[in-house]
Amino acid sequence: MDTKIISVAAKTSKIPLESTGKLLFDRISTFENTAVAFFEVKSGVTCTYGNLAINSLNLATNLRNSLGIVKNDHLAIISENSHKIWVAALAGLYLAAPFHLLNPGFTTYELKKYLMMSEPKVVFCSKQVLLKLQVVRDECTFIEAVVLFDDEDDTSKDVIPYKDLIQEGCDGKCFEMEEVDDLDNQVAYIANSSGTTGLPKGVMVTHANLRLNMSHVIDRELYPFEDNSVVLHVIPFYHVHGCGVCYCGLYRGLKLLVMDQFEPKSYLHNIQEHKVSTLFIVPTLADFLANSPLLDTYDLSSVEQIYSAAAVLKTTTHQKVLKRFNIKSVRQIYGATEIGVAVFMTPTASFKPGSTGKITPGLSVKIVDPATGESLGCNQSGEICVKTATMKGYLNDPENTRTAFDADGFVRTGDVGYYDEEHHFYIVDRLKDLIKYKAFQVPPLEIEEILLRHPGVGDAAVVGKPDERYGELAVAFVVRVEGVEVEESEVVDFVAKYLSVEKRLHGGVRFVREIPRNGVGKILRKELRELL
Ligand code: ATP
Ligand code: MG
Repeated sequence: MDTKIISVAAKTSKIPLESTGKLLFDRISTFENTAVAFFEVKSGVTCTYGNLAINSLNLATNLRNSLGIVKNDHLAIISENSHKIWVAALAGLYLAAPFHLLNPGFTTYELKKYLMMSEPKVVFCSKQVLLKLQVVRDECTFIEAVVLFDDEDDTSKDVIPYKDLIQEGCDGKCFEMEEVDDLDNQVAYIANSSGTTGLPKGVMVTHANLRLNMSHVIDRELYPFEDNSVVLHVIPFYHVHGCGVCYCGLYRGLKLLVMDQFEPKSYLHNIQEHKVSTLFIVPTLADFLANSPLLDTYDLSSVEQIYSAAAVLKTTTHQKVLKRFNIKSVRQIYGATEIGVAVFMTPTASFKPGSTGKITPGLSVKIVDPATGESLGCNQSGEICVKTATMKGYLNDPENTRTAFDADGFVRTGDVGYYDEEHHFYIVDRLKDLIKYKAFQVPPLEIEEILLRHPGVGDAAVVGKPDERYGELAVAFVVRVEGVEVEESEVVDFVAKYLSVEKRLHGGVRFVREIPRNGVGKILRKELRELL
């Protein structure tokens, strides 16, 4: 065996080899019927574990008997965060009918494009999404029914009310779940990647991947909190991180307080009001928790655990959050839609600043030199490649599917990283984002970390600007802190004080009002590059 491959044994042996629908249903059924699974803070709507079980069974029954959905038919779910997404998702899992999770913020153009990708027979959507869906529905002839989550007075719209489909199935008694024999190949759902480096791709997540995920979320070393803990959940459910928090909730019997939009005061108020113990966040939310003076006016002492995922958590932000919440660690999770489960996680006992943690059970990782394809050893940076029960591939995209895996079945993450002697992993940057200055590869993240130390810099993003002589020059887009005067030369000199010559801002500074980011807070560097 290649000694440069680092693996941790899986802990899946106790989990039956069954469809995730069955596994999840059995699990949900073990919790108190009246225990709250989802509480939607804005509307006050509650969904108990009992509701979730019966509503999902009724919906699955009706999808099968009234709408003719059979194994491998596709569904689409497009809504702002709501428990109904999970009622529909569970029904899809019971029927082995993969559901495509789509961003409710999509324009009609994007909606059409991604619906055409998966060709769902039934689309579940919210009222806001319906308006856009009606525009493209005629062109999407594969759609046989639209199920509307919200109540609608106007009955002319040719939609089926969700509330009709969660009643009068057969109360679950005669429902037979679809068998899934080939867990590795049966697609459970389709999630779009974030589209940070190109167009979002439709990732086919398998039942085997969800089973591995289950072994993670019930592992108390990885998630050392009580079952039935109270968790505040504001990450979009359509994103792999938001979706992952939901299964963690359902497998562990958590009470998920759902917000469909981040609003600073309401976020803090909800922590205080509901004595939230666990937060799942993204780094932009960490920045808010680190810096906002609003935090001083709320009692946030109930918070014991914070998990951050989806993008790089800056070391300075990390330290500030630890201090403000007076907790031992903010645990990082590194992953990608293609891999579907946490790859690295900060261990409970041995937190190292700047590291995203150690490999989770059931995964193998190697660091590969992108130029030669060779596996590298300790403290050498290269592309992070991961092997486990990953995705089956990208939907309708054999070309990208082929290049996503290497010859040994490892997924190429496109991220550069390294590990130390104790196998703690560090993310350097994305391969595509490295700035090529002369013969050097400069990670924008390193420059951004420095920029944020400047008291006049509120936010920053660095990209490479093409240059005939040097290849690329680093340009910083900077948002000034309100009321603080800061000039370009000052920023350039500040970076030069800390970093060696190749990592300096040779392309200068542009002051902007805002750094463009997507729904989970990732910097949209391609938009910034277009500005140059
Ligand atoms: P696309 O693949 O469509 O260009 P994307 O890679 O941003 O977009 P996701 O699958 O949502 O889509 O995100 C995975 C990526 O997010 C990883 O490859 C990595 O770059 C980044 N990431 C996730 N978690 C972390 C983390 N803890 N630290 C640093 N980066 C992270
Ligand atoms: Mg990606």
